[in-house]
Amino acid sequence: MFLMIATWRNWARTERSRPALHLAPRSVKHVVQAVQRARETGHAVKAIGSSHSFNAIGATDGVRIDLSRLRGLVDVDLERGRVTLWAGTHLWELPSILTPLGLALENMGDIDRQTISGATSTGTHGTGLAFGGLATRIVAATLVTGAGEVLTVSEHENSDQLPAMALGLGALGVLVTVTIQCVPRYLLHAVEAAAPLDQVLDEFVERNRAADHFEFYWFAHTTSTRTKTNTRLPIESVARPLSTFARFVDEELINNALLGAVVGVESLVTSATPRINRAIESVSSRRDYSDESHRVFVTRRRVRFREMEYALPLAAVPEALREIRALIDRQRYRVSFPIEVRAAAADTLWLSTAYARETGYIAVHRYWRDAPDGYFRDVEALLRAHDGRPHWGKMHTCDAEGLRDTYPMFDEFVRVRDQLDPDRVFANPYLDRVLGQ
Ligand SMILES: Cc1cc2nc3c(=O)[nH]c(=O)nc-3n(C[C@H](O)[C@H](O)[C@H](O)COP(=O)(O)OP(=O)(O)OC[C@H]3O[C@@H](n4cnc5c(N)ncnc54)[C@H](O)[C@@H]3O)c2cc1C
Repeated sequence: MFLMIATWRNWARTERSRPALHLAPRSVKHVVQAVQRARETGHAVKAIGSSHSFNAIGATDGVRIDLSRLRGLVDVDLERGRVTLWAGTHLWELPSILTPLGLALENMGDIDRQTISGATSTGTHGTGLAFGGLATRIVAATLVTGAGEVLTVSEHENSDQLPAMALGLGALGVLVTVTIQCVPRYLLHAVEAAAPLDQVLDEFVERNRAADHFEFYWFAHTTSTRTKTNTRLPIESVARPLSTFARFVDEELINNALLGAVVGVESLVTSATPRINRAIESVSSRRDYSDESHRVFVTRRRVRFREMEYALPLAAVPEALREIRALIDRQRYRVSFPIEVRAAAADTLWLSTAYARETGYIAVHRYWRDAPDGYFRDVEALLRAHDGRPHWGKMHTCDAEGLRDTYPMFDEFVRVRDQLDPDRVFANPYLDRVLGQ
């Protein structure tokens, strides 16, 4: 096991902590030893993935367990299309594992830098009303509990704990393997186009029902959106991928280099934001292409930002977004990053933001260097009034009391936590706030 002490920071540079010890175990046995030793010395334990959460869910002053040496394929069940992965496997590593097996993830978010265990533990999702978040595809998992014991949960073993363990916020133990239900490889046909905001809001639910995957971005201070509609195609279909040059221009020059330069200027000269947003929106071109699924879902995000995202009952999204627009106008907030709107199927994971309801997601962003103002606070109050549930890996101020009201199975989750981690070995201040102590 590799030992070192270093300050930890998350991707968005919103959080930092100084663990007492940083361990990178090479085996399940090492994870067990690490948890047992931490217990003996009275240290907390926190597993970490790629540190892409925007809040302090990954912070600890105890023992940090880095899963980067537990990566790759453990086992495959080709008949059922299932793969068992080491918990530290990154999403970007999956195509090289799954493609030769003829498999793919059923759905993905917009980046692939996360680990499979970090992404599922915080409820990472993509878009598409027929599809749940990544954690809904977990059919089995192995974790090391707070007692330092190895526990397997699957349809056949301890199945009553699966709805908690698949999306466990890192509160139940250190995941060492997860088994994912995959689908046969497929292509996505993507159409990206501009559309008026009011029209997209009027048609929001229908557009989501009509498409496999629908999402849109709205640049505040403009009247237009950028919509993205993806249709699933059999893998045998003829792909028409973006040329390397087109991808470079759109993703590197416009989404990263131009956006980075622009938001940097805007953070200094906020009065320029509305004009700059209108200019960016007008240069966004229509794109129509098809490619292997992961290449369409995933984009590169190199401009650093802070993010808050709330899950709402699907039908509440248009009204909530109109309220955000009115709020921005009323408070004269200058908002340089686009607001992102997505959707997901209802699911059965106890702490899933889409638990028992068809869900729409509204995500707001701020350039990481922008001085904090009341924008997130005001948007959060507005989204909570729509029975919003915060993304577990993004910025929010909710506590256990408020969250218990919106999660019908909250106390069931706490009961499983009491069984698997009665001494709160995996606690940190974030978990104390959102789950209680
Ligand atoms: C640029 C960017 C884009 C993003 N896009 C999306 C998106 O499209 N959709 C979306 O829903 N989210 C998105 N997110 C949020 C992100 O997916 C989540 O915050 C996710 O948790 C990050 O994964 P990670 O591997 O970095 O986890 P980390 O942030 O490292 O860890 C999150 C928590 O997971 C737990 N954890 C990690 N590994 C283990 C383990 N082995 N055992 C037990 N618990 C563990 C720990 O409690 C940890 O604190 C995005 C974030 C960024 C920065």
